[in-house]
Amino acid sequence: MRLHEGVVALVTGAASGIGRASAGQFAREGARAVVVVDIDETGGREVAAEIARSGCEALFLRVDVSDAAAVAALVEHVADRFGRLDCAHNNAGISEPPVPFHELGEASWQRMLALNLSSVFWCMQAEIRQMLRQPLVRGRRGVIVNTSSGAGIVPALGQAHYTAAKHGVLGLTKCAAAEYVSAGIRTNAICPGLTDTRMVREFLAASPPGVAEAVRRTVPGG
Ligand code: NAD
Repeated sequence: MRLHEGVVALVTGAASGIGRASAGQFAREGARAVVVVDIDETGGREVAAEIARSGCEALFLRVDVSDAAAVAALVEHVADRFGRLDCAHNNAGISEPPVPFHELGEASWQRMLALNLSSVFWCMQAEIRQMLRQPLVRGRRGVIVNTSSGAGIVPALGQAHYTAAKHGVLGLTKCAAAEYVSAGIRTNAICPGLTDTRMVREFLAASPPGVAEAVRRTVPGG
């Protein structure tokens, strides 16, 4: 049996990069349906079409994950359409070019927290509410995986807001993991190292000279 045989999976930020790879992997591992969530309509539709061509049901939904009401409606829609939500990968996120801690503006702080931390909270709340309503399958009601970052563990220099948000994602993950494991909901986070995606390319292109080289030096393989 494949790892995700028959599951209904939802992946946020699935139009690109890590989320796109995750959505495709759910399909390859036997998912019954994959819900591709993103604000990028072109990329999202492309990923959903790719998944549908592989024989797995795919649905693209354009949702801004920082909008709590829209996220609640999203999960309700998935439950109405597919009957349950087995796996959720809360992955959507943004980065910004490095700024010294003391110069970080309020708008930038608020935006980062809304998109990289509150968004994960809204998604988890809606997903947990749905998972608690659904019956156990193979001893489990559901699985949640949040994308944190290496910056969830160590500081990313010039990115106090990103670092704080990603540390926060680990906090939310630990709370939910402890609170709902006995109800059959498993919650984990991943902390990717540097991964060649659109986010990283845009980050390096917008960063001051020398940052790309400094970042590259943090990757042992270059
Ligand atoms: P990416 O830019 O390729 O993908 C991010 C996706 O999120 C995009 O498709 C974007 O449209 C979507 N998105 C952004 N804001 C959204 C919103 N409000 N609502 C819905 N979708 C939204 O970047 P990626 O590198 O694949 O990043 C995915 C996750 O991995 C992020 O949370 C990022 O912080 C994390 N991460 C990335 C790296 C890396 O090196 N690439 C390392 C550690 C953690």
